[in-house]
Amino acid sequence: PTAPDYVGRFAPTPSGPLHFGSLVAALASYLDAKSAQGQWLLRIEDIDPPREQAGASDLILSTLDAFELHWDGEVFYQSQQTERYQAAVDALLSAQKAYYCQCSRKQLQTHPVYPNWCRDRHDLSAHNNAVRLKTDGDFTLVDRIQGECHWAMAALGDFIIQRRDGLFAYQLAVVLDDAEQGVNQVVRGYDILDSTPRQLQLIEQLNEVKLIHTPAPDYAHIPVIIGTDGQKLSKQNLAPAISPPERLKLLQKALLALGLPLSQAQQEASYSELLHWAVANWNIQRIKAVAEITEASLQRPFSRC
Ligand code: GLU
Repeated sequence: PTAPDYVGRFAPTPSGPLHFGSLVAALASYLDAKSAQGQWLLRIEDIDPPREQAGASDLILSTLDAFELHWDGEVFYQSQQTERYQAAVDALLSAQKAYYCQCSRKQLQTHPVYPNWCRDRHDLSAHNNAVRLKTDGDFTLVDRIQGECHWAMAALGDFIIQRRDGLFAYQLAVVLDDAEQGVNQVVRGYDILDSTPRQLQLIEQLNEVKLIHTPAPDYAHIPVIIGTDGQKLSKQNLAPAISPPERLKLLQKALLALGLPLSQAQQEASYSELLHWAVANWNIQRIKAVAEITEASLQRPFSRC
């Protein structure tokens, strides 16, 4: 994609402050967009209140500011979009592309793939029931980093788009909002690769019911960062927050994770200079096509000579 068509985004869930793994993801999507003279949008994925942390949204915004990752346009909050999500669920239900499901977590414990028990029932109502999307077929994706990926929907099963408690699933909101915001380039963590076939299925179904009129975006799934405890850095695992006073060191380390090792001149650059250099020298193909990178492997980014 070239200017002015590129529209990318960063879409954090405000379940905690940004950590080093989120910085790598934010930077990857920012650098990819800015090197294509594209737009980089910010969407706060605040549709799951039980997972959110008070103040996290504002903290994410001020941290991005402090790291000079300036987004284009207004911040988009998913919590303000629930009417659109409900309209989509209703349209999928009336087109019989989705159905109510009353199966409990307990009943499904021994069924990692949903056995479609409620798919052909017509006696269930919205009351106290989840909504599942009917899935079928195969999806192939040529990921810009990970290469060709293939999934059979039968191995994934019908999935929930609205929970029993009324909350909307991430899968549904992300697809509707990428379409709504005109996003055509998605750069995000490898941990979400598994969700991509579900999102491709939703994009297909939503186009069929004419709720969206856009093809799937291009995708690039970057490796996730594994902390010293062997766990993926995540807000749930309480990965330490990144702090602005350490921003230069963190940027240097993040660029190494993204396949941009620094020569002597860049090692001596200021934060702003280094960020500009990264935009000018960005090449997504230099990111390793792997699922994970350990933070420990980034500890000594520079050669001593
Ligand atoms: N909100 C998701 C997260 O914070 C990211 C969604 C996406 O990039 O598609 O992990």
